[in-house]
Amino acid sequence: MTDRYITKTDASFEESVAALKAWLDTSDKILIGAGAGLSAAAGLSYLDEELFKTFQPEMAARGYRYPYELFEREKENWPQAREWAYNIRHIHFVRYVFPPAELYKKLLALVRDKDFFVVTSNCDRQFMRTGFPMERVFEAQGSYDRLRCTGKCTRETWEIKPHIDRLLPLIDPETFMISDESAIPRCPYCGADLATAFRAFEGYKDEQARYVDWLESTDGKKLCILELGVGFNTPVVIRWPFERLTYLHDNAHLFRVNTEYREWPGHGGFPMVPAELSGKATPMPYDAKDVIERLYAMLPEEGEQS
Ligand SMILES: [Zn+2]
Repeated sequence: MTDRYITKTDASFEESVAALKAWLDTSDKILIGAGAGLSAAAGLSYLDEELFKTFQPEMAARGYRYPYELFEREKENWPQAREWAYNIRHIHFVRYVFPPAELYKKLLALVRDKDFFVVTSNCDRQFMRTGFPMERVFEAQGSYDRLRCTGKCTRETWEIKPHIDRLLPLIDPETFMISDESAIPRCPYCGADLATAFRAFEGYKDEQARYVDWLESTDGKKLCILELGVGFNTPVVIRWPFERLTYLHDNAHLFRVNTEYREWPGHGGFPMVPAELSGKATPMPYDAKDVIERLYAMLPEEGEQS
């Protein structure tokens, strides 16, 4: 029986980075896919216990270790005042306190002069905050920036920032709840609860269409596909479509950069590529930070560029 996946190559780190660089340099088009692993490599990991203690001290004191423990199901039985305290704190830190990451800026420097496009499952808006031209970025999972009506009475959405500013001082550090429940925002039309809009904001379909148009423009062109830190939380967004695109495209190569989280050793990364992509895909079991910084170091110095 043949293996269904190629999990590693004989190439060294330097050799596979050199192969990636050759594709980046000679391709007409560059497609970047970015998952949670890229932000983790940039210092914003949802598995980082130390980071969690700094921005969610009340929850850390209650025995929680990192944000991934608190996605959805854990919060189902929480009172609303606790859920809002937690979510507001989380979004405030991820979106507004954590700085625009140097690693993203370096990634931009690698492709700035190319015909590139980014698709990301990250909601932290790092691409926008580090200066990527947003007409070349598709945030497939939307972002934390807007709220929607859970009663679905309207398609209108509202900025979350004013609510963050108003609610943060109302978090009671003892109970870790919003102290004044009347301050929790509600739909101005029907009074229903509000929730993060993610993909439900105005303009999402236009952004999606722009991505699809760009993908179609790669037909007949040489296409470098660089996937950074995309695992199996939402493989349907980036990982599986990238495999299919690589398979169907006449002149494309997929570089899959994926390693285990530094904060969670022993749980393995997922650099493997389907055996059907043999010769068209390279598993790179490395941290996105190491790969991007190595490529960045190979860029000509500013001023040397002709
Ligand atoms: Zn409503």
